[in-house]
Amino acid sequence: MAAISAERAVSLIKEHGHALGTERVPFQEAYGRVLREPIRADRDFPPFDRVMMDGIAIRGDEISRRVRAFRSIGVQRAGVEAAALTEPGTCFEVMTGAVLPEGAGAVIPIERVAARGAEFQLEKGYEPVPGQFIHVRGSDNLRGDTLLEEGVVVGGKEMALIATCGYAEVTVTVPLEITIVSTGDELVEVDKIPAPYQIRKSNAYALAAACQALAYPVRTRLRHLPDDRAFIAAELPSLLEGTDMVLFSGGISKGKYDFMEELLGLAGVERHFHWVRQRPGKPLWFGTSKGGIPVFALPGNPNSTLTCFRRYVTLMSDKMTGLTKSHERVALLKSPFAFDKALTLLLPASLEYDPDGRMSVEPVPPQNSGDLTRLPHSDGFIELPEDQEVFPAGFPARFFPW
Ligand code: AMP
Ligand code: MG
Repeated sequence: MAAISAERAVSLIKEHGHALGTERVPFQEAYGRVLREPIRADRDFPPFDRVMMDGIAIRGDEISRRVRAFRSIGVQRAGVEAAALTEPGTCFEVMTGAVLPEGAGAVIPIERVAARGAEFQLEKGYEPVPGQFIHVRGSDNLRGDTLLEEGVVVGGKEMALIATCGYAEVTVTVPLEITIVSTGDELVEVDKIPAPYQIRKSNAYALAAACQALAYPVRTRLRHLPDDRAFIAAELPSLLEGTDMVLFSGGISKGKYDFMEELLGLAGVERHFHWVRQRPGKPLWFGTSKGGIPVFALPGNPNSTLTCFRRYVTLMSDKMTGLTKSHERVALLKSPFAFDKALTLLLPASLEYDPDGRMSVEPVPPQNSGDLTRLPHSDGFIELPEDQEVFPAGFPARFFPW
């Protein structure tokens, strides 16, 4: 199969996969979940003319009449029905969050008045403006307005709206379940001392951790397969069931013991592409099972595995969970960079801020796609297009944080 462009790979992934189901949860449990219903204002925002400062409330016409002294006729505190301010020369002592007394037209902050008992005198030279420090009913939003769209992740600021609009329960996406299967006879468990020709398994753990770092809850199931044709063939059917997505790592290249392409086909997984014109991660494979489950076979090199996960797999997991916000950014290259192959380059890079606050991105090139030791020095990777060889300083590169 001829290699396709990275751009084509992205669009093929986007054509597949479906949104996961939803569940209703008590609002206190909605933190970190993807919202699947819009949150609408059940009242005007604010719901009443709201006092914004501790101080006194006076009638608006007193300002034009240049009245400077007021006699308090009571206290309007938060949580109490509006009193009426009618008499000229009088005021209410008001507290932040209280309803504005009826008839009042301005709030004078306590710092701007001198108080003697119930008498309040405006500070010398202080000129209040009609309407000041009144948060007018409906001035932020009107009842029925959509305040949060579907597809956002609930954090503190979203929780504030959910709670204030009276959503005791909210609809969110169910957790995404991903099966992660590494392959390879050279791999031993983390707590074992490898023989000189062996290495420890890292990809499945790296992928599981990268799943946990996503914006929504992911449950992972980890397995490992030897490079044994019959064994893999026997295991595949059960691995392709009871899960929302399957990630294989390794065994998808052209080696004699790379069985994944052939066996995924035999297991009825429909291939959408294999081989992408990119570095790293050229052997990337993507398909869907008979049951409609997205299946990725990621190249086994540790840098390739993680980079392909972040660039491609998360397109699918975002779509499935209903997340609408992309994590992709644009950053300006700090120094010129050249790459003369007709491949899309996915290059680990770190973000830097200069003293003026300007951000740029500097490549942290690994030695090769198997080199995982440099990755922790990077914040993500940039994507440099295949049809360009020279990238000057200041080039706006697509940036994907890890
Ligand atoms: P493969 O894609 O199976 O040919 O693997 C490519 C390279 O990545 C080989 O050097 C493997 O040893 C290495 N590799 C594959 N799977 C893993 C893994 N789970 N953890 C660490 N390295 C791996
Ligand atoms: Mg292998």
